[in-house]
Amino acid sequence: MILKEQAINYNYIGLQALYERLGNNHALKERIHSKILSAKAGIIGEKNVEAIFRKYSFPFDYAVLLDLNLSSNGKFKIDALFITRHYILILESKNVVGNLSFERDPFCLRRELDSGQVDIYESPEVQLERNINLLRKWLKKERVDIPVIGAIILGSTKSRVHKSPVTSPIMYPTTIPNFIWGLPRDKAYLSLEQFQQVTNSLKNNHEDYCPYPMCDAWGIETKDIIKGVQCPECSLFGMKKIKAGWYCEVCRQVDRKAHEKAINEWFILVKGSLNNKECREFLQLNSQQATLRIIKSMNLKECGSNKRTFYRKRDNRSVRVKNRSVFPNNR
Ligand SMILES: [Zn+2]
Repeated sequence: MILKEQAINYNYIGLQALYERLGNNHALKERIHSKILSAKAGIIGEKNVEAIFRKYSFPFDYAVLLDLNLSSNGKFKIDALFITRHYILILESKNVVGNLSFERDPFCLRRELDSGQVDIYESPEVQLERNINLLRKWLKKERVDIPVIGAIILGSTKSRVHKSPVTSPIMYPTTIPNFIWGLPRDKAYLSLEQFQQVTNSLKNNHEDYCPYPMCDAWGIETKDIIKGVQCPECSLFGMKKIKAGWYCEVCRQVDRKAHEKAINEWFILVKGSLNNKECREFLQLNSQQATLRIIKSMNLKECGSNKRTFYRKRDNRSVRVKNRSVFPNNR
């Protein structure tokens, strides 16, 4: 059973907003674009693994936790964790299409496309080994003694492996069930109760990864962010406020709620708070009253008072639910 679903990918959402609001000449534009592509490939790869665990089940005690962020001697992210009473299996997804060589000296993943283009990525073997070590340290702190193993999962059957990894098995998602069925289960390291406790603890210690505000994360100045409300039809910035909503002078689209995306992007890109003046400048409005009406319509949390009033989003992305059992009925 899947006990923890994939988290919202705040990084991917943030990268897209950042890309849209950076001018075409900005030095980081291309780099952000390639980060968007690799984040998207990562999401697809993880979805493929998730689909396998939704389709197949196993005749012993196990749990699957997807997209798990933990910290021990440093923060680490596990794409999929398969826990049993006999071992913990970490699955590291790699959704890179092309001819792949897992190189050593130094460790890296070399990808060659049919066009001849060559790209070098961080070695998934090294990533996996690091995650295995960090998870072992995390388990040690929890006083849990259980073997931790790992495997690399290729996201696409369009990937062809020319040089396999040496330290870890590699497979397509469809092979995961056979691989798991073949793993030995002679010795139980955990009692059923311990298994449930560790699984609860893994789930409860997950922390959402949220790199907002993106400008800070990328060292981008606020002045480089394009201001204005974006037209949902033609994507241009600078819709004008009219009585019926927002009007695009280019494609003549009228949208009543086009400001909502812009205000959300302020919080994602610039900072966690917003006052009337900042909102007015960002949406390119003239009237303080009209700005106030817009802010009030957004169901934001009001803080401070009078001239120092500012607003925050109500959702707290990093709230952690602690001590909640994922086995409420003790199965
Ligand atoms: Zn338009």
